[in-house]
Amino acid sequence: MDIKKLMTLHPEIGRMADYEEVWWTNPDCGTPRKLDFGMDDIKDAEARLARFAPYIQAAFPETEVTGGIIESPLKEVPEMKKVLADMCGTFSGRLFLKCDSHLAVSGSIKARGGIYEVLKFAEKVAMEAGMLQLTDDYSKLTGPEYRELFSRYSVAVGSTGNLGLSIGIISAKLGFKVTVHMSADARQWKKDLLRSKGVTVVEYPDDYQKAVAEGRKEAEGDPYCHFVDDEASVDLFMGYSVAARRIGSQFEAAGIVVDENHPLFVYIPCGVGGAPGGVAFGLKEVYGDHVYILFAEPTHAPCMTLSMITGLKNEIAVSDIGLDGKTDADGLAVGRSSVLVSDVMKTLLSGCYTIQDEKLYPFLASLADSENIFIEPSSCASFTGPALVEADTAWRESRGLTAEKMANATHILWATGGSMVPEEEMKHYYEKGK
Ligand SMILES: *Cc1c(COP(=O)(O)O)cnc(C)c1O
Repeated sequence: MDIKKLMTLHPEIGRMADYEEVWWTNPDCGTPRKLDFGMDDIKDAEARLARFAPYIQAAFPETEVTGGIIESPLKEVPEMKKVLADMCGTFSGRLFLKCDSHLAVSGSIKARGGIYEVLKFAEKVAMEAGMLQLTDDYSKLTGPEYRELFSRYSVAVGSTGNLGLSIGIISAKLGFKVTVHMSADARQWKKDLLRSKGVTVVEYPDDYQKAVAEGRKEAEGDPYCHFVDDEASVDLFMGYSVAARRIGSQFEAAGIVVDENHPLFVYIPCGVGGAPGGVAFGLKEVYGDHVYILFAEPTHAPCMTLSMITGLKNEIAVSDIGLDGKTDADGLAVGRSSVLVSDVMKTLLSGCYTIQDEKLYPFLASLADSENIFIEPSSCASFTGPALVEADTAWRESRGLTAEKMANATHILWATGGSMVPEEEMKHYYEKGK
């Protein structure tokens, strides 16, 4: 790979190699293109989650209030908007936080895709065994005969932490044998929590990609093992995309309109790409050209930004431009983006931007002080987004985003994790931010 040539072609890459923050807008966004999946696949996933709602409600009593549907609130954060204006620059429109940081069961955005993929596998196993039909009340899956059935199968995943939590918790609850292959940078409390639930945790001294590769290798050749492939899974992707079908009623309740004259901007922290990609794909299916999706990454591990700028998908890694891939942002310490997602996002993503680790903590503390909402550092990676959009007048004008339209804009910072972080750890983050 001729890195010098890439840097000449794309000046952003030179700055990225120096760990500088970058902002990049995608010239291919909006180009018509046929994808391999669409709204029917999202509806299929949504219907499956609805079938499982009675099971989720029975297995996780905390979900009783939502009838077994794992969904998060959309909160307007006007005080944080003022804080961000001071910290990063002003922007017009309303500011919201989508609180996937507080999703039930596993406390991160992984409670969408991760749980969905394991449920889909469980449904397949139970149906093939002749023990489940589409029309059944799925709460029967809590019964001992199902746990016995599932115990003959295993689930494996490689993870930096949060995906492991979601896969581990739901798999163990259903009765599957489950192994989570974790990278060295995964937090100790996540490993401890999983082990306390009977999950086998295997630790690797190397990075996340190595953990995934080991997990994949171990699962290969075992017909009774389902491997959740964070780098290429369509099931994970579809599980995330369902968010877009549910947010409409929250928009109505908040008086949010999304149309030609009322643009929607969604800012999501990105690791390998599955979670933000799935959510983004769903939102583009539902809201089309009126939604603008922006991915945020740490300056030390901007794998998706690199992949999108070069068009090289998973053929380029952050180490190729000399970056160390080390970041405090759990879940974002990924060196190489998902091949599936970097392909799908080619015409759907409006842009990418990166942020220095040092900024995550002040954002975390400011959100706590202004709105009394506590989220994990990686969840704060997106917070510079609205000011960056506002500042790029040339890009906005090229997309027809006039000042009048921006005055009607809705900005959503998609908070991706936080509610499972132990109090002591959160206090430490907060103090660091102060
Ligand atoms: C996993 C995760 C992300 C990013 O999701 P990817 O699928 O890896 O891109 C962002 N924030 C948090 C807190 C996460 O756990």
